Amino acid sequence: MKFHMPVKVYCERDCVKTYSDEWTSLGHKALIVTGRSSAKNGALADVTDSLNAHQISYCIFDHTEENPSIEMVMQVRDMGIRENVDFVIGIGGGSPMDAAKAIALMIYHKDKDADYLYQQGDSTALPIVEVPTTCGTGSEVTPISVLTIHAKRTKSSIPHRIFPQYALVDGKYLASAPKKILVNTSVDSLGHLIESYINLGASPFSRMISEYGMALWKDVKPALLSDHVTDEDRDRMMLTSTLAGMAITHAGTTLPHGLSYFLTYEMHIPHGQAVGYFQPGYVAAAAPETQAKVLELIGCKDIAEFANLIHTLLGPLEIAPDMVDTAIKGIMANERKLKPVPYEVTEETLRKFFEMAM
Ligand SMILES: [Zn+2]
Repeated sequence: MKFHMPVKVYCERDCVKTYSDEWTSLGHKALIVTGRSSAKNGALADVTDSLNAHQISYCIFDHTEENPSIEMVMQVRDMGIRENVDFVIGIGGGSPMDAAKAIALMIYHKDKDADYLYQQGDSTALPIVEVPTTCGTGSEVTPISVLTIHAKRTKSSIPHRIFPQYALVDGKYLASAPKKILVNTSVDSLGHLIESYINLGASPFSRMISEYGMALWKDVKPALLSDHVTDEDRDRMMLTSTLAGMAITHAGTTLPHGLSYFLTYEMHIPHGQAVGYFQPGYVAAAAPETQAKVLELIGCKDIAEFANLIHTLLGPLEIAPDMVDTAIKGIMANERKLKPVPYEVTEETLRKFFEMAM
């Protein structure tokens, strides 16, 4: 049994500035990878103030696309090499944080071309700091980087495992997030907790984290269903997301994530929403005692109540029958997502996932 989570995590208000002595000492020049919204939530300002205070220079790429592509990673890698940076800071949701890892890898391996991203080999990368500003991905504590491969019309994680050096987790960055983002990303973190729990790769270490995370999620639920979100709720959402990241680092994700990549690529459905649709079906197919445990932890009396909750939060999935067939065919050929499932998966099982979502 093994549990490896080598990221130094600070999870508290104002941690970017409080611990800036430490994380700014990773190098002499930073490449900041972010999206347009992080300027609004204060995270980018906290990071650049800290770098300025420690006289560390930096350059900023602030056009990270949603579901970053290999092409974008290579473009930002060229900028990092030109600017001679020696560490990378990802600020934002899963897209900039995942991209930061791939970019840090490719700057370190200057002589390699884009094919290296999906080849087995040395995974050494420049040091990475991650600052999440959404509460779903958990990317700040995972070694996972999911990129869009246009040639294959899907998303897929790169085989390299790249852990950040620091995760600076502060619930205050959620204050300006639209409600829809809080809902979608919190549902993503629930998916991470459930898929890592109903998983053959789970161990007592990861189960402990998944169980505690699901119990925390139960307390996040009322805020997701109301229009009133407090600072305490935001802190809890962030913590849940980081814990869920630790759980998937250990056990990985399974069928709902595998199916979600199809919905995201073909139908442009945001990641958390796409993942959320399949959670009731995934739980419903599990052994009765596992199912009961999950439902108890998240505070639902039965599967119907869970399915209702997902409907209320996300609305119904609208999808054409031929798209369902294509998605099912794709996942039945996806060994990586099928292998950790602790029950037999047939086309019929998957069809039920869709029925519960529609
Ligand atoms: Zn996810």
